[in-house]
Amino acid sequence: MSDSELKTSNFIRNIIDADLAANKFAPRRWSGQPGPAAQHQASPADAPRIRTRFPPEPNGYLHYGHAKSICLNFGLALDYSGVCHLRFDDTNPEKEEQEYVDSIVAAVKWLGFDWGGHLYYASNYFDWMYRFAEYLIESGNAYVDSQSAEAMRAARGTLTEPGADSPYRNRTPAENLDLFRRMKAGEFADGAHVLRAKIDMASPNINMRDPAIYRIKHAEHHNTGGQWCVYPMYTYAHPIEDALENITHSLCTLEFEDQRPFYGWLLEKLAQGGQLQRPLPQQIEFARLNLSYVVLSKRKLLQLVEEKHVDGWDDPRMPTLIGARRRGFTPEGFRHFAEMIGVAKADAWIDMSILEACMRDDLNASAERRIAVLDPIKLVIDNYPEDGEEMCAAPNHPQKPELGTRAIPFSKELWIERDDFSENPPKGYFRLYAGNTVRLRYAYVVKCTGCAKDAAGNIKSVHCILLPETKSGTAGADSVKVKGNIHWLSARHACATEVRLYDRLFKSEHPGAGGRDFLQDLNPDSKRVITAQLEPSLQNAQAEDRYQFERHGYFVADRVDSAPGKPVFNRAVTLKDAWK
Ligand code: ATP
Ligand code: MG
Repeated sequence: MSDSELKTSNFIRNIIDADLAANKFAPRRWSGQPGPAAQHQASPADAPRIRTRFPPEPNGYLHYGHAKSICLNFGLALDYSGVCHLRFDDTNPEKEEQEYVDSIVAAVKWLGFDWGGHLYYASNYFDWMYRFAEYLIESGNAYVDSQSAEAMRAARGTLTEPGADSPYRNRTPAENLDLFRRMKAGEFADGAHVLRAKIDMASPNINMRDPAIYRIKHAEHHNTGGQWCVYPMYTYAHPIEDALENITHSLCTLEFEDQRPFYGWLLEKLAQGGQLQRPLPQQIEFARLNLSYVVLSKRKLLQLVEEKHVDGWDDPRMPTLIGARRRGFTPEGFRHFAEMIGVAKADAWIDMSILEACMRDDLNASAERRIAVLDPIKLVIDNYPEDGEEMCAAPNHPQKPELGTRAIPFSKELWIERDDFSENPPKGYFRLYAGNTVRLRYAYVVKCTGCAKDAAGNIKSVHCILLPETKSGTAGADSVKVKGNIHWLSARHACATEVRLYDRLFKSEHPGAGGRDFLQDLNPDSKRVITAQLEPSLQNAQAEDRYQFERHGYFVADRVDSAPGKPVFNRAVTLKDAWK
C-alpha cells in the first residue's frame, strides 16, 4: 500500500488518482526551468508526476489558514512523489516587501516543507504574459477598451441582466495591437485604456463578460523596476503562471470558483494557438479554513497590530505562523491538524479547540516534563534540618523512560502553588489542609499542620511535618496512602522567571458576528505576565525549547526575549481544554 493510500481520501486525491490512472501527465516534460521552452525539452524520468504550488502574495504574514493550504499542496506533492513550487505572486506593483518574502520562506520551512529549488517569482513571467496578450489580440480574443471605469462598470450588467458590448469592442486586431503597444510604451495615463478578453458580454457568469486582463499603471515594481507601465490582472496572470510552471493541479479557495471558466478559457485559447503545450493545469477549489475564536482576514490582522491590541505580528496570540511559533505551537501539530480537518468542497467552521488539541497531542508526546510553581507560596517542613538538602529523581517523560530522570533538590523551605493549600477545604479537596497528608511528588509524604499569617491576616507560609521513610523510589514509598499529590520546588534553588500566560485572543466564537466591531470581542485576559518559580535546570533552556510544566500545560522558551541563562517562557496551551 502506498503512502497516499494510507492517508484519508478526499475529493482532490480522487481527482489526482483518476488523472494518474488515465496517464494524463505522460507527455509532461520538465527541464528544470519554467516557461514554454521548457515544455519542449524531454525529461522522461520526470514525466508522470503531479506538480502543485503554494502561491502567496508577499503582502502580509502567513496565518493559520495558509498553513492549511501549505500542508495540502506540499503534502500532496510528497504523497504522490511530485513537486510543490513556492511561487511569490508578485504581479501587483507597489505592495510587495522583502520582509514578507523572507517571513514566508521561513514559515514554509518551519512547517517542514521543501520546494527543492522550485522557488519562483510571478513577475519573472511578465514577458510571457505580455507576449500572450499580443497573441490574444492578434487572434481576435482581446481588445483595447477606452471607456471610463464607470462606463465599463455600468455596461457590465448584473446577475440577472446581460452586459452591453463596449463601443470599442470591434476594433481591428491591428488597431488593438497598436494601442496596446503604445500603452506599454507609456503613452497613456493610468486608466486611459484597458486590455480586455473578448468573450461574451451576455454570459451568465459575470467573470466571463470580457474581463480586464491588462491595465496601465505607472508604478515601480520591486523586481522589474520601471520596465513596465502595464501590469497583468491577477485572474489573467495566475493561470499563465501555473501553465508556465507545468503545474498539474492548481488548488485554490472557493471564492475563485466563478473564475474557473476564465482560467480554462484563457489556457485553452493559448494552447489552441500553440502558445502553450498540453496537458494544461486544472483549477480545483477547496473550502478555506474558517477557525473559531480568531480572525484570519489580512485587514483585521493588520488592524490588531497597528492599533497595538497585540505586541506585533509575532505576538503569540496572533493567528500568524510567526505568532504560532513564538507561542510554542509545533509544525507537527499543524500538519496533524491539516490532515485531521481534511479538505472539503463546502465552507465550514473548525473549532479552535481542535487546533489546540492537535498541539497538545504533539507536545504531550515530544515535550519533556519540568516543574514550575506559577503562584508560589512557601511550604515549611518544620521537622527538616535548617540546612538539610537532598536530591529527588523526577522522570523526564512518564511515557518515555528512555529519556531518563533528572535530580531535583529538596530542602526545608519549598515553593508550592497557593491553591494547593486550603484553610476551609471544600468537599473532595485532597491537597494540603490542616491534618491532611499529601505526597510531595517525587519526594516525601507530609502532614499539614496549618499556616502562619501576617498582621493583615494574609497567609505567609504553610507548615507541615515530613513522614520519614516515605520517599518516592524507596521501599517505604507506599507505606502511607494519600489521595493528593502536589508539585513543589526548593525555594533556595528555584529561579524566579518571567512567564506569560497566553490564552485565546478573542472571547467569542465568531469575533465581530452580527455586525459588532470585532475588537469588542477581544479577550481582556488573553495575556497575563507573572513571575513564576522554575526548577533550576530550566535556567539553561534554549530559545524554542518546549516543556510540559507538570499540572499546568505546555510552555516554550520565548525565541525573541529569552537570553542565555535567562529564559522567558510562554504558555502554548493548557493541559486541558478550559473553554468547554
Ligand atoms: P489576499 O488574496 O486577500 O491578499 P490571501 O489570504 O488569499 O489574501 P494569498 O497570499 O493570496 O493571501 O494566499 C496564498 C494562498 O493561501 C492562496 O492560494 C489562498 O487560497 C490560500 N489561503 C489564504 N487563506 C486561506 C484560508 N483561510 N484557508 C486556506 N487557504 C487559504
Ligand atoms: Mg489570495
